[in-house]
Amino acid sequence: MNIHEYQAKELLAKFGVPVPAGFAAMSVEEAVEASKKLPGPLYVVKAQIHAGGRGKGKFKELGPDAKGGVRLAKTEDEVRAAATDMLGNTLVTVQTGDAGKQVNRLYVTDGVDIAKEFYLAALVDRATGRVAFVVSTEGGMDIETVAHDTPEKIHTFDVDPATGFQPHHGRAVANALGLTGDLAKQAQSVAAKLYDTFLGTDASQIEINPLAVTDNNRLMVLDAKVGFDSNAMFRHKDLAELRDETEEDPMELEASKYDLAYIKLDGDIGCMVNGAGLAMATMDIIKLNGMFPANFLDVGGGASKEKVTAAFKIILGDPNVKGILVNIFGGIMRCDIIAEGIVAAAKEVNLQVPLVVRLEGTNVEQGKAILSNSGLAIVPANDLGDAAQKIVAEVKKAA
Ligand code: ADP
Ligand code: MG
Repeated sequence: MNIHEYQAKELLAKFGVPVPAGFAAMSVEEAVEASKKLPGPLYVVKAQIHAGGRGKGKFKELGPDAKGGVRLAKTEDEVRAAATDMLGNTLVTVQTGDAGKQVNRLYVTDGVDIAKEFYLAALVDRATGRVAFVVSTEGGMDIETVAHDTPEKIHTFDVDPATGFQPHHGRAVANALGLTGDLAKQAQSVAAKLYDTFLGTDASQIEINPLAVTDNNRLMVLDAKVGFDSNAMFRHKDLAELRDETEEDPMELEASKYDLAYIKLDGDIGCMVNGAGLAMATMDIIKLNGMFPANFLDVGGGASKEKVTAAFKIILGDPNVKGILVNIFGGIMRCDIIAEGIVAAAKEVNLQVPLVVRLEGTNVEQGKAILSNSGLAIVPANDLGDAAQKIVAEVKKAA
């Protein structure tokens, strides 16, 4: 689960990390009011979307010469103009894809005089299974380019969970940033608090870019991107409330309501599978047969009729889907129950595209009998290879 920059900064501030003052705004008037509460003389009006690269982004509606989603303003009128330009318009950045994202919220914050921009992130290193710090002197707007062209400028080290964050970790961050004296002390403190925030919120990623040195030698977080482990949100009710569903893919959102693990992809063949490993294998074998999966979908171990119906509706909500492959192993769940769910769901959604079903496991014969007696044009398959060949053939035949 991801949150907006302003929410991330409020959270970091609670853990004692230095951030400039600022206020969220949902309208032009609120943006102007927010700027009046700030000391000035420089304000920054920032589009709040769940994507980075806003500074260099472009608004679809404003043409190529207009400024991006992070704007400096010196007067009330400039704040008003920036807010008017952004709200309701679509910002396209390197991270949004061509469709862009509509800006519905703004953040109006203190403008800071920047002497230097650093990069500092904490994330879960999958290789070591530990929280890792990623540090670079080359902060600002192009960290992807730095990682690509000069990877030696990015330093990474992890924290042993048995000892937790130690002073030497803080010194390593300060050293990697080339800081000495008071700024080094500030960097150590920011790193320690970042680690506290990470553990305290079950974060999966906290990326600060830039971590700025101001011209009066203060370290400040000017941009923060925070993501949490969704599986831990049950123990952070306050954080779960920060979720902004308008930022999420509508079909993935619908799937999450039924506890279905669904990820939309670009292909033509919808897949409904139980178990993430089997779902991955099913996607692979569709590709092996020359077509592409339209989605990843794991209905989980206890796939009920309601879940199967919801899954069908979500798969068919994607207009690209030209056929569906159901691949279910009935272990905990019996194949006859699943078959009843598939038949009921196919009838309820008035299925118009080819459907190939491969069932295996407990009560598989009863399951297959239910499918073949259903009166529906369901194509049975015997194994995974057979199923993939059949759905590709059926889709080509229907085209
Ligand atoms: P994004 O990463 O989405 O482009 P940032 O918040 O990092 O957005 O802003 C882009 C750039 O704008 C920063 O690298 C920084 O140079 C400048 N900037 C952002 N916030 C402030 C601020 N409060 N004061 C001064 N400059 C800022
Ligand atoms: Mg940034």
